[in-house]
Amino acid sequence: MHIVDAEGCYLIDANGKRYLDFSSQLMCSNLGHKNQVVIDSIKKQAEDLAYAMPGYATNARAELSKLLLEVLPKGINKFFFTTSGTDANEAAFKIARMYTGKTKIISRYRSYHGSTSSSIAATGDPRRWPMEPRGKAQGVIFAPEAHCYKCPLKHSYPDCGLACADYIEHMIRNESDVAAVLVEPIVGTNGVIVPPKGYMQKLRKICDENGVLLIADEVMAGWGRTGEWFAMDLWGVTPDILTTAKGITSAYVPLGLCATSEKIGDFFQDNYFAHGHTYEAHPMTLLPAVATINEMKRLKLVERAKELEPFVHEKLVALKAKHPSIGEIRGHGLFWAVDLVKNQKTKEPFNTYADKISGKALLVDQIAGKCLAEGMTIQAWVSHFVIAPPLIVTKEEIEWGINLLDKWLHLADEQCM
Ligand code: PLP
Repeated sequence: MHIVDAEGCYLIDANGKRYLDFSSQLMCSNLGHKNQVVIDSIKKQAEDLAYAMPGYATNARAELSKLLLEVLPKGINKFFFTTSGTDANEAAFKIARMYTGKTKIISRYRSYHGSTSSSIAATGDPRRWPMEPRGKAQGVIFAPEAHCYKCPLKHSYPDCGLACADYIEHMIRNESDVAAVLVEPIVGTNGVIVPPKGYMQKLRKICDENGVLLIADEVMAGWGRTGEWFAMDLWGVTPDILTTAKGITSAYVPLGLCATSEKIGDFFQDNYFAHGHTYEAHPMTLLPAVATINEMKRLKLVERAKELEPFVHEKLVALKAKHPSIGEIRGHGLFWAVDLVKNQKTKEPFNTYADKISGKALLVDQIAGKCLAEGMTIQAWVSHFVIAPPLIVTKEEIEWGINLLDKWLHLADEQCM
């Protein structure tokens, strides 16, 4: 696709054809395209001060920090600005290791945390495999994910008593040297996996009782996507470190953030944090983040994602009822997965990660291709679709997008067993 233009929830190609952006590109264009306030902020910052070294205070940095104090979970108030989510996680791992004096990070199998050496090593999904054994050498160990539909421990909620959280405690107690537990509060690319009730609270307690930090990777789940500013707000749990990117500028410019509690931030008053970059806290990225947050507040987009949740849920429940190939629909706010299975009983997916990384043609890609031809882009991943339109989306657009998916799901239904 040769994209030359975009506006609102639509991308426009070189032939003038319009596409509904049903997954906000990479779940990042939360405000939609061509927001004039954000565009103006980019122009203004370029005119006022395109660059100043990270060590300086700038107006944009001060303004953004003030706004972050308003929207981040209470108690998270020290900020390190990066250029991506990957880089924010790199910073988080170093911070956790320096602060605790310990090495190991417990991550979970179905997770993605970035593509540089440490962040891919902390990624539980098979994108990590080509980098092993170097990945392992970096002190990451993996726990089972909190995924009730396909529980890796073969339990069922609530009888399990949250065994997946207990497992993490078991790991902490039987490993030495654990610095942190790293979670995507709602797992993103690996299938919009929402943990069961009580899981995050239990994890917080386990971390506190064992002197381990809790890192929430909100790169995808943050910024109103779930109907709260941050997914951790769904459970009222404050992590020790929160990383984010994507929606912080609604993808207009590349910015990431590693934010910590005051106690952790203060530790670095006396301890040099060797993670500087030339483009860290780049003013050209900070003012657009100010504009993005202000626009989200003005347009009440967090509230909007929450209000639209029952509408999307109802439409997806109806979609599932029509298609034997849909195993589960799950999500929050405007962040949903439609998970396909060949067989409702065995829950066997049409394709696996091994198929994806070996370059095999995937059924979800075939269906996404049909949708593309009819004017909609949708994120297809291994055996599920991610429905995550810009938060400005209308009910009519949601309905149109789900109807288009509905039209092509027979390609999966026909292969059900
Ligand atoms: N963490 C999560 C949860 C993500 O979804 C992503 C990207 O999709 C990253 C980290 C990496 O962020 P970036 O692509 O900005 O480096």
